[in-house]
Amino acid sequence: MKRKLGHSTVAIHGAPARQGDWSPVIPPVYQSSTFTNPVGSGEEVMYSRYGNNPNQVALAAKYALLEGSEAAIFVSSGMGATALAHLAVLRPGDHLLSSGWIYGGTRRLFDEEFTRLGIEVTYVNPDQPRQWRRSVRKSTRAIFVETPTNPVMRVIDLTPMAQIARDGGLALLVDGTFASPINFRPLEHGADIVITSATKYLNGHSDVIAGAVAGSTSIIEEVTRLMMLWGQSIDPHAAWLVERGMRTLDVRMQRHNENGMAVARWAESRDQIVRVHYPGLPSHPDYAYATSVLDGFSGMVGLELKGGARAAEKFLKKLKLITHAPSLAGVESLISEPRFTSHRRMTEEQRIRQGIPDGFVRLSCGLENAEDIIADLEQALS
Ligand SMILES: *Cc1c(COP(=O)(O)O)cnc(C)c1O
Repeated sequence: MKRKLGHSTVAIHGAPARQGDWSPVIPPVYQSSTFTNPVGSGEEVMYSRYGNNPNQVALAAKYALLEGSEAAIFVSSGMGATALAHLAVLRPGDHLLSSGWIYGGTRRLFDEEFTRLGIEVTYVNPDQPRQWRRSVRKSTRAIFVETPTNPVMRVIDLTPMAQIARDGGLALLVDGTFASPINFRPLEHGADIVITSATKYLNGHSDVIAGAVAGSTSIIEEVTRLMMLWGQSIDPHAAWLVERGMRTLDVRMQRHNENGMAVARWAESRDQIVRVHYPGLPSHPDYAYATSVLDGFSGMVGLELKGGARAAEKFLKKLKLITHAPSLAGVESLISEPRFTSHRRMTEEQRIRQGIPDGFVRLSCGLENAEDIIADLEQALS
């Protein structure tokens, strides 16, 4: 087919092919560790740790189409994807430049594990884009950025990092979990490798832990080689579930985007909420840039409640529809306090500097009717 297919069509069909008579419309789960192979064949065997189980292969192909990459691979968690993507481009003695605004688990991976492997990491404040070039060393091999960021939803301009990466032959890795390929495709903005926690929007039903890496064929071959040796393959049933979830990715994102916007606008009109962090609002520091690069602003909204920690606790205890739980991006609305989850290892002082004072709650708007989400928030505020 020559016509470029829309995201929703791709999310449902991958690359559409006519089915033979009497074939299942939905691919079966190949819940098999191993597969028969021809006697005397020297070809690589089929084995579910190798990432060549049909469920793993179909899922990866579909995701690659959505990101616009040559290839992709799924592994058993977002952290697994982050670790392998970096290990594919870094060696002991190498230097990694990372944004300072990253997922807590990623920060620990860099600080506790990468340093142990002899990989040095320097953190850059993305608010000072000139710092990127100043921090490059002879040994710098890669740049890592997460965008949009958790939980203040900063949308980072990748242009300076992409330029440095191109000039110096470095790899630019981007964790795009919070946007999903429906809202933002990092490869279109100069990234070489996309990392995503498929646990979040890709799967979208809060019932699977999974991760993915997308990029060039050679990068994905290296990630696959590492996966075969370090052992993070995705289980066939988990792969089947993520593929099922992805069929509705585009329509879910439309609703997440609508609900996020509706809740953010409502929240800005409330006196008990001091500040709303949502890149689709003109009050957000990245509004202009976000509007130019994102196809939607997602369902993630940061709310700063008047009255700090006590007010947040009272508010959270009154919620009925919205569930108090970490994680995000499922069909159900979830809310959490970063000071107890992603940012618990920081002091209050450090959190304030990152724009996350006590009283900050992070809301993941699900797919419920926006009026019902807002009504629940409203009754909990009063
Ligand atoms: C959740 C998350 C991860 C880690 O993913 P897991 O699937 O929990 O391992 C990494 N990056 C971001 C931005 C996340 O939100």
